[in-house]
Amino acid sequence: MKIIDRLNDGRIHISFEVFPPKKDEDYEKVAAATDEIAKLDPAFISVTYGAGGGTSKNTARIASHIKDDLNVLSLAHLTCASSTKEEVRGVIRNLKELGIENILALRGDIPAGMTFPTEERFRYAYELVEEIRRSGDFCIGAACYPEGHVENEHKEDDIRYLKQKVDCGVDFLTTQMFFDNDIHYNFLYRIREAGITVPVLPGIMPITSASQMKRSQELSGTVFPRRFLAILDRFGHSPAAMKQAGIAYATDQIIDLLANGVKNIHIYSMNKPDVAAAIMDNLSDVIKA
Ligand SMILES: Cc1cc2nc3c(=O)[nH]c(=O)nc-3n(C[C@H](O)[C@H](O)[C@H](O)COP(=O)(O)OP(=O)(O)OC[C@H]3O[C@@H](n4cnc5c(N)ncnc54)[C@H](O)[C@@H]3O)c2cc1C
Repeated sequence: MKIIDRLNDGRIHISFEVFPPKKDEDYEKVAAATDEIAKLDPAFISVTYGAGGGTSKNTARIASHIKDDLNVLSLAHLTCASSTKEEVRGVIRNLKELGIENILALRGDIPAGMTFPTEERFRYAYELVEEIRRSGDFCIGAACYPEGHVENEHKEDDIRYLKQKVDCGVDFLTTQMFFDNDIHYNFLYRIREAGITVPVLPGIMPITSASQMKRSQELSGTVFPRRFLAILDRFGHSPAAMKQAGIAYATDQIIDLLANGVKNIHIYSMNKPDVAAAIMDNLSDVIKA
């Protein structure tokens, strides 16, 4: 089944994200975390793609496990900057053979020291979207950035390029993490004005430790609001308190989004079923109302 068919049914959908094992011997550990997350009845589970492309077969393996053994929709991420066009075509063929119908098409970060762009690689995610469209009957998701992508100084350009990407055949968008919902509402307003009409899934990252916050900021350049910084300042020294407060903060963001009419939410649960379960527990009646 295609994710877009589920997103369009008018109901509330919560999805989760896991990352694949870097080493084959860690496969069982990741599969076990995925099994627990699947018990929360998510709309789908997405599986990230290692930055260098080296874990590509584990992305496909976990995505197949989710679909075939857990009977949950899976979304396989695929990046193109670190691989040649031929390598990327090989991955798409493999996903097709495995019956994976949903792909999140990403450029990926440009590896340090690499000459980019080159003839043999896709330059931007929109070129990958075109390639996936040509390759089969896939549902295609793509990334978007409420605070703007770090490489692009001009938010208007970012939205113009986003429209170009969507017009190449994107079915839905998932946002980069953000911690201030007003930034998301403002972004939604601007992209709708630009004529982007596909569903947009806000990406919510439960921050459960001070080190995770630092990593997230380095990766995404996101702005942490004062309310979040106060929580970190007061509870960051205590892992248990920070975890509880981070789960409450993410829950609060989700409740606000749902209260404002958002139907589909993606949670960056990052192989932590206990965090995913705690958020779902907090939302148990909210998502039924
Ligand atoms: C939801 C989500 C999931 C992600 N999952 C992964 C993952 O699994 N693995 C991973 O390695 N990374 C992942 N990332 C990170 C992502 O790969 C990086 O943010 C990457 O730098 C950009 O990828 P993109 O697909 O958004 O690129 P693009 O859409 O190609 O955009 C990249 C930059 O190029 C600009 N641009 C786009 N088109 C043009 C054009 N025609 N001319 C000039 N400039 C242009 C954009 O404005 C932007 O600044 C994810 C990000 C998000 C938000």
